[in-house]
Amino acid sequence: MQFNDLAAQQERIKDSIEKRIAGVLDHGKYIMGPEVKQLEEQLAQFVGVKHSISCASGTDALLLSLMNYRVGPGDAIITTPFTFIATAEVIRLLGATPVFVDIDPETFNIDPAKIDAAVSAVKNNDSDLHPLPRQHNNSALKLKGIIAVDLFGLPADFDAINAIADREGIFVIEDGAQSLGAEYKGKKACSLADVGCTSFFPAKPLGGYGDGGMCFTNDDRIADIVGSLRVHGKGGHKYDNVHIGINGRLDTLQAAILLSKLEIFPEEIERRQKVASYYAELLSAIDSIAVPKAPENYKSVWAQYSILAQDENHRQCLQGKLRDLGIPSAIYYPKPLHLQKAFASLNYKEGDFQISEKHSNRIFSLPMHPYLKQSEQEQISEALR
Ligand SMILES: *Cc1c(COP(=O)(O)O)cnc(C)c1O
Repeated sequence: MQFNDLAAQQERIKDSIEKRIAGVLDHGKYIMGPEVKQLEEQLAQFVGVKHSISCASGTDALLLSLMNYRVGPGDAIITTPFTFIATAEVIRLLGATPVFVDIDPETFNIDPAKIDAAVSAVKNNDSDLHPLPRQHNNSALKLKGIIAVDLFGLPADFDAINAIADREGIFVIEDGAQSLGAEYKGKKACSLADVGCTSFFPAKPLGGYGDGGMCFTNDDRIADIVGSLRVHGKGGHKYDNVHIGINGRLDTLQAAILLSKLEIFPEEIERRQKVASYYAELLSAIDSIAVPKAPENYKSVWAQYSILAQDENHRQCLQGKLRDLGIPSAIYYPKPLHLQKAFASLNYKEGDFQISEKHSNRIFSLPMHPYLKQSEQEQISEALR
């Protein structure tokens, strides 16, 4: 059994992919070729935004978005500790400071009700209000923005998050690396904040055969700056440089492959819905595990199907049982970011974000992809039972 069956998908679109790759080899425009523009146009339309700017990875999409806002030392960015390292890594990379806010126990996304306390703590430089990272010589941080993550493909609560940001005059970035194709109150994921970022890493819902990413925005100015930063901060032409940027372009070959994958993506999203509802049907009869549910008005794209065991021992036992039967499973994420060695200088401690910590010990993900068979799901359910 496969955790994520990319071979079954390739089988369906092999001809299309080979044709498009041959097309790129023919025209030879390997950097910023016509397929890049085509993919940007199609995905802007898919997401329902004015601009999309492709780039080399989801991490670069986040980095470019933060660079666009001139984020740097002394700035505080509120985000979740229960995510992939890239979300907070880019904040630190620019010398800014992640201020973590714990998650909602059911959606696994940042809990908007807890953001207010973090805002007050930063503004008053008072860690009695909310756990704050240690600052160099204890100087106050300046609150600049929020990065909210759509974990496992479920959008965060952006109405609540954007309302706080509007009140405080700060920006919001949507880390939609796992959620392209999801929906929130009738709007598409990656269109829910000032900038939306996604990833085309092979295992993501729309994955390429290598690295890639994209920024989405309705703001002309942001689109302009991110587009420039992606190509060494270029101005009017290649050798006119107006910003300090990066080499962050998407390869033409990846864009070509993604165009083929996009042909069947809407159908794959629907297949994912079916797989997720069948899991819910099968697994909700098992009392000792908690199954994920998308709240009303939310549509998850089910990048992962993550369930909660009772505790670490129970998880180990369930995963062991699956492994014995040749069923793969994975843990996203075994250690919350505030306890990672890479962030040790922030001086967070165990107990600061207890839901994230407890979930890290209980959570694990089952095989999830558009081609998972009902018989396989029944086998998984039986094993867990
Ligand atoms: C995958 C992922 C990223 C990074 O994307 P890459 O394309 O691998 O750089 C960022 N944030 C989240 C939540 C992710 O899952």
